Amino acid sequence: AKETGKARCVVYSARHSGPPEHDISLEAAMFQAVREGEFLLYYQPIVDARTREIEGFETLMRWRHPTLGMVPPVRFIPIAETNGLINLLGAWALKAACVQLKQFEEVAKRSLYISVNISPRQFRNDKFLDVLDDAMAFSGLPGEKLVLEITEGTLMIDPAHAETILTKMADRKARIAIDDFGTGYSSLAYLKRFPISVLKIDRAFIRDLPGSQKDGAICNAVLDLAKHLGLNVVAEGVETEDQLAYMQDRGCQYIQGYLTGKPMAAHVAMAALRERTYA
Ligand code: C2E
Ligand code: CA
Ligand code: CA
Ligand code: CA
Repeated sequence: AKETGKARCVVYSARHSGPPEHDISLEAAMFQAVREGEFLLYYQPIVDARTREIEGFETLMRWRHPTLGMVPPVRFIPIAETNGLINLLGAWALKAACVQLKQFEEVAKRSLYISVNISPRQFRNDKFLDVLDDAMAFSGLPGEKLVLEITEGTLMIDPAHAETILTKMADRKARIAIDDFGTGYSSLAYLKRFPISVLKIDRAFIRDLPGSQKDGAICNAVLDLAKHLGLNVVAEGVETEDQLAYMQDRGCQYIQGYLTGKPMAAHVAMAALRERTYA
């Protein structure tokens, strides 16, 4: 009984200071999952708003747990970010995604690009540029086919360091996308200072379109800003024809959302590419 009490106490203290109790067992399971190869990558199409042709894919990590089923990234990415496992998982994802894109292009018989999420901790890691070079060298993928998605928060932690890393990414011709644009705590000055290529408008601003006047005003302002700065815009989380039409009418070039393609396993993505090519 004493042992039980003690164990419980440990759990309680962890729960008060850190992630929820449930996630402590998830964290333990994650190390096992890495050894067992339970992590996999899904790919969500990013399409041309006008033609709906697939231009590229965003890489989204999945964890297929033998008993829990699919664990969503919102559950495990924050844990991996805390314990550092994100460096290992992120390096694997970057390399695997670059290799996968080559296969996608072979099937599609045309040029595509691959977009990969980079977490704040990965971005700040000393080895990050080595990881990037390794992925590009191993896959043979030219930098211009690679988009790295980072958030405003990642840039703001240490702007001087961010500028150094982003410049080196640009030297490799990799493009930088600002993910969840408009939701972070940041200043617009960084759009001038850093070599950014793409703004991804967060789903929160798309969800209530075309009804919401405020969201419409925000989307219009972002599109206008992007146009004058020479940036591409991707509207995230587009679920309806009305949302697509609204964004397309206002000059948004790229769409990503359930309407034009959910995140899917690589073989499903290849079937989609094949269909379009040979239709
Ligand atoms: P995110 O980077 O903003 O990714 C977009 C999320 O929106 C994905 O959720 C995607 O499935 C979802 N989504 C796309 N279209 C729609 C739509 O039309 N409606 C709705 N309701 N949702 C849509 P997912 O795959 O669950 O990923 C959640 C977050 O986890 C990502 O947000 C990203 O922050 C993180 N994440 C996922 N994979 C990775 C990864 O490999 N590395 C890192 N560092 N983070 C990742
Ligand atoms: Ca993203
Ligand atoms: Ca996003
Ligand atoms: Ca998001």
